[in-house]
Amino acid sequence: MAFLGFEGVELEEAPQEAVPKCPACKAELHVIWTKSWGVALFAKDRLLICPHCRSILGFTAIRS
Ligand SMILES: [Zn+2]
Repeated sequence: MAFLGFEGVELEEAPQEAVPKCPACKAELHVIWTKSWGVALFAKDRLLICPHCRSILGFTAIRS
């Protein structure tokens, strides 16, 4: 994958049955909470939150 540009790192699609784990509490994340704000339909910033320990897992900014 050229866009990553890390030598020796290969990206592979995760198996369908693979469930991600929270890096903080290690719980399996069958559900991820989101908290979003922004002007509806134009911009939506979104926090991804673990529903078990409420750690912030990530942040996305969607612009359309
Ligand atoms: Zn957690």
